[in-house]
Amino acid sequence: MTQHVPLLIGGEFVQSETSQWLPVTNPATQEVLAQVPCATSAEVDRAVSVAQQAFDSWKETAVGDRARLMLRYQALLKEHHDELAELLAQETGKTFEDAKGDVWRGIEVVEHACNIASLSMGETVENVARKIDCYSVTQPLGVCVGITPFNFPAMIPLWMFPMAIACGNTFVLKPSEQDPLTPMRLAELFKEAGAPDGLLQIVHGTKDVVNQLLTHKDTPAISFVGSVAVGEHIYRTGTDHMKRVQAFAGAKNHMVVMPDASKNQVISNIAGASVGAGGQRCMAISVAVFVGESRQWIEEVRDALAKVRPGAWNDPQAGYGPLINPQARERVLRLIQEGKDAGADCILDGSECAVEGYPDGNWVGPTMFRNVTRDMSIYQEEIFGPVLIALEVDTLDEAIALINENPYGNGTSIFTSSGAAARKYQHEIKVGQVGINVPVPVPLPMFSFTGWRKSFYGDQHAYGKQAVKFYTETKTVTARWFEDDIVSGPNMTIQLK
Ligand code: NAD
Repeated sequence: MTQHVPLLIGGEFVQSETSQWLPVTNPATQEVLAQVPCATSAEVDRAVSVAQQAFDSWKETAVGDRARLMLRYQALLKEHHDELAELLAQETGKTFEDAKGDVWRGIEVVEHACNIASLSMGETVENVARKIDCYSVTQPLGVCVGITPFNFPAMIPLWMFPMAIACGNTFVLKPSEQDPLTPMRLAELFKEAGAPDGLLQIVHGTKDVVNQLLTHKDTPAISFVGSVAVGEHIYRTGTDHMKRVQAFAGAKNHMVVMPDASKNQVISNIAGASVGAGGQRCMAISVAVFVGESRQWIEEVRDALAKVRPGAWNDPQAGYGPLINPQARERVLRLIQEGKDAGADCILDGSECAVEGYPDGNWVGPTMFRNVTRDMSIYQEEIFGPVLIALEVDTLDEAIALINENPYGNGTSIFTSSGAAARKYQHEIKVGQVGINVPVPVPLPMFSFTGWRKSFYGDQHAYGKQAVKFYTETKTVTARWFEDDIVSGPNMTIQLK
């Protein structure tokens, strides 16, 4: 019998009473793995109200206890690492190795959350005036909401709820309806780690559920990761309702190849960075900008891409898996066709890709274009498929100018052996994450995950370092201490002289 994915409300895994269910499918076979509900409005309301009630006591819980919950959770996630990766691989189609990376990057954020006491320290200045001290404290916000995309069903929910909860908030997660099984397993393990009821709720569904959370009077902070169109809607609606919103959106990431780069390094990195995960990464390299003589390497790059073979999650030889659903495949195939029709040279064509034993998979083979102009849809749009565009320019200045004109600003990289070129690039490029001889520069959580222009909406870039700022309010206290003040605390009575 097909599994019906439950909701998580108040510590209970409950069946939704909705009549609307969506299939969760294995993208390599179309086998239906489960049915996921579109939660009813009453269920969404209940999730928020239970989270609101739990907040009252959780915000008063000692910071050490909050950190210890994260320590137990981190240990459990590590113990279940491979099991999580296997589940994740089946519902996303990712290769096992790639799925393990997805889980691991999430665990790193939980490790970061274990350090919540140090991360949430305020500041103090004594004697801002005679006998007047000034200090700040951080306090949680309330019920925080997370809305996550399909492409990292472990890492991205883990960017959000552990940091929010460690800060003293409670949380309602609306995971992608396309792969909700991994987030549910993350929630089971969180409960097993000892999370009190009501800290984390999970509601499933699509835009109606999201809109209800976005406009609810008791959800002060919204974190979103997904496409630009939805990110813009989330940011507009959330801020219209006077909420704190961070929306991480789409990308078109460029890699600059300088003629003084190590050719072998470029060629060995570019294949994984562009077609790895089927190009379904917000940090995938989708445009390689060959500067000057490096254009001579384009054919070799194509040959490297041609060697990458898609396959099922448990095929150790597979370079990447199928696209998430048949519509995503159709969209990528349409864009490839548009590129050809617009006159670009398709020097490697993966549109007819088939994988033996998996006739129904959403396969697209590695694809590469050259002679692309910037007005073509394959350059304008985020393709989110295994498609690499090669552009050619004469100078580094030209490369920087074209990247800075691009509407997206998520990630970029430069391959060069010149310190001067690398320094100029990191200084002048208007993009959030910059790699120098590193193809996919995803920072660790002690830094922030950033994004410029259309790749990020909001005034915080919170997954790591800044997450505490997003998930807390700062209160600044200015205190005048008189000669004979008595300061009382739970364990002390101090006579100030
Ligand atoms: P998506 O925007 O379709 O969906 C994201 C979430 O929004 C899902 O939970 C979905 O149910 C919900 N949603 C979808 N349509 C909605 C609507 N009309 N109103 C309200 N909510 C809606 O994104 P996706 O296809 O799941 O993920 C891929 C996208 O995410 C890509 O564009 C990728 O670049 C982006 N992404 C960005 C980052 C980043 O850090 N910048 C990271 C990962 C993915």
